[in-house]
Amino acid sequence: MAQTANKLIALPGGTFGIDASLMAPEDHRYIEMVTPTFLIEHPKGLVLFDTGYSWRMAEDLHAYMEEMSKLAAIVNHRPFTRDLVVDEQLRRHGYDPAKVGFVVVSHGHYDHAGAVSLFPHAQLFAIAGEMRYAAWPDARHVKLGFKSSEIAATRGLNWNEPEHDHDLFGDGAVLILKTPGHTPGECSLRVRLRNETVMLTGDTLHLRMQIRTLKGMGGDYDPRQAADSVKRVVEMAKAESARIWVNHDPDDWAEYPHQLE
Ligand SMILES: [Zn+2]
Repeated sequence: MAQTANKLIALPGGTFGIDASLMAPEDHRYIEMVTPTFLIEHPKGLVLFDTGYSWRMAEDLHAYMEEMSKLAAIVNHRPFTRDLVVDEQLRRHGYDPAKVGFVVVSHGHYDHAGAVSLFPHAQLFAIAGEMRYAAWPDARHVKLGFKSSEIAATRGLNWNEPEHDHDLFGDGAVLILKTPGHTPGECSLRVRLRNETVMLTGDTLHLRMQIRTLKGMGGDYDPRQAADSVKRVVEMAKAESARIWVNHDPDDWAEYPHQLE
């Protein structure tokens, strides 16, 4: 039977500043991107989409970024404090992090998978191959977004690695969409709520403007695949009259209500 999730809550995370032309050559703004996470209440459990930055980053940004020195040279982090880490954000909203039953990771980059180890009791989901790549990326991607030591340390957790789209509860409410290209196993999430459907993009899209351009971004693992995935998300949203929430886009963060039902 078709079901809906009860609630979707957008939780604040950190920020990073970046020259938009690195993502879209025609965009020359300096943008403060956001790194939120999303909690979904479904009758069968609590689902977290992405985990945001690690608490280790709050402790010592410089030491944390050392492993990703190529990235550190192009990204400008605002101070990231312990209260912004996802477990504290969950508590602030009245949720016990230990009660999160399912964690879906859009991909293995540090701004999405950084706090996975805070959920040792949850069922973790990533598209097959993504976390392996994150732990042992091609040389061109070493030091560029994958905190490989941290990913490798989560190997013993409860990872589930679907090869294709995966309907989390078998009722269509929370659908993991395989949208590769930014990384080998990037995924997005379609969430059906009572009043609307929301597409959470992870990094399948980085900026709202890609809904119009239908292009991937510079630095994608596979640019052709990435553009196909952008199209897939946009077309599905159109077909379902869904809201596309581009996770990193500061305008989406500023304009969209942070609780949807
Ligand atoms: Zn990202």
